[in-house]
Amino acid sequence: MADRDTATGSIGLVQAFVNSVDLEDGPEKLTTPDALADWLSGQGLIRGASAADADDLKHAIALREALRGLIGANSGSAVYPLDVATLNEAASASKLRARFGADGKARLEPDVGGVTGALGRIVAAAFTAMADEDWTRLKLCSSQTCRWAFFDRSRNHSSRWCTMAACGNREKARRFRAQARKA
Ligand SMILES: [Zn+2]
Repeated sequence: MADRDTATGSIGLVQAFVNSVDLEDGPEKLTTPDALADWLSGQGLIRGASAADADDLKHAIALREALRGLIGANSGSAVYPLDVATLNEAASASKLRARFGADGKARLEPDVGGVTGALGRIVAAAFTAMADEDWTRLKLCSSQTCRWAFFDRSRNHSSRWCTMAACGNREKARRFRAQARKA
């Protein structure tokens, strides 16, 4: 899906995590605890051989979907209390704290290692991303079956679909059929 706009940095990490599943067509990348550990290590969020268990996987998927919900707010959806609670739980579980790096810059870092800490790093990335004005460009595709996170590069922040070729055209066809029925 090279044509679906991707972001970089903290926003890019949040986007990559949310898009670790393609709800419309698959695949799901986080199928097993091992697949989760691989994905986190591929993003540099855990070092070495860190094992994940079934609970980790459950927490990771819950966090991912809570982040998807939060991104939905950039596309005009409500913020759901359950998503907020899930994010706060992940922040607490990983014991995120303010740290000043050797570069003199402040960041949030987890005091806990392993998968819990890695998920905390994703929450920290969301925290950092929200301070960036570009955060509001991270949106969900308006197709209810897609809900892919895309980075809206349009000048007036008006994109609603992950790609016009896929969801936008499908939606246009749906509307066309609905109008044809009416006529
Ligand atoms: Zn879409």
